[in-house]
Amino acid sequence: SVPLGYFGGLGAASKKGILFKGASYLDTITKINTLVMDKTGTVTKGVFTVQEIETNGIEKEEFLNYLVALEKKSTHPIARAIVEGTASTQNFSVGEVKEISGKGLAGKVNSKNVLVGNASLLKQYKVDFPDSILNIVDTVVIVAIDGKYAGYVTVADELKEDAKESILQLRKYGINKIVMLSGDKDSITQKVANDLGITEAKGALLPEDKLKEVEELKKQLGRKVAFVGDGINDAPVLAVSDVGIAMGGLGSDVAIETADVVIQTDQLSKILTGIKIGKSTRNVVW
Ligand code: ADP
Ligand code: MG
Repeated sequence: SVPLGYFGGLGAASKKGILFKGASYLDTITKINTLVMDKTGTVTKGVFTVQEIETNGIEKEEFLNYLVALEKKSTHPIARAIVEGTASTQNFSVGEVKEISGKGLAGKVNSKNVLVGNASLLKQYKVDFPDSILNIVDTVVIVAIDGKYAGYVTVADELKEDAKESILQLRKYGINKIVMLSGDKDSITQKVANDLGITEAKGALLPEDKLKEVEELKKQLGRKVAFVGDGINDAPVLAVSDVGIAMGGLGSDVAIETADVVIQTDQLSKILTGIKIGKSTRNVVW
């Protein structure tokens, strides 16, 4: 049977909005020395706002009708921002839609083949777009209709209030390696990492790339790796980490199921709170 100290620890954590999926994670979390984190929804709020809309050979109104119709089929934070932050005037009919993890969407809208996503998605479908788009600093959502570049929308997100301080505190507490991995553009990933004092960061990653990075880290002697993500596209890497931590607020149901620990309040500072509760639980049990 599980010693009483564990129930105390689980209860204390749950009161603070930290859900441990089993008593053993209270112990494992205290052994973590490496923290790998996602960007969107983890260190940033994951609430994007639409900045700029640019069209190519199509009326803005029609452009938005295609874009919004497709994004309505996605639960990605970028999709939500576009649906809520732009105005579509007609409900275009949507046929089959494919969500391409880490890239965007491909689907039939008004019987046309529509792509909505990043540069890598357009390259995959061999659709040309102006090189200048690659120089835009914000996250860019590119749209193609029937194989032709139709324009883009830029969206921006902001850092969580407690992000910088939490990372500082985690380092002080003995997390000696902090790495940021993101599916967003590398330029944005590097900028956000830099703002937070994180020196190791990689962007433009697919979910399977994140998985490989974490698997490599786990192979290093003595490394105990926690991954923290908002859960959108993160389920595989959450599952492979020593401790998978999901931000519960915006996270997808799949990820919340796969995670070992769920932070219901979405605050990064709760990682350290969880480690501290784990440590005091251990003191009671042993
Ligand atoms: P992160 O690792 O930052 O959480 P994701 O793996 O969720 O990023 O997504 C990576 C990139 O894929 C996004 O930055 C965006 O460019 C693109 N993308 C994914 N889903 C969508 C969508 N529904 N609409 C537009 N772009 C998308
Ligand atoms: Mg994500």
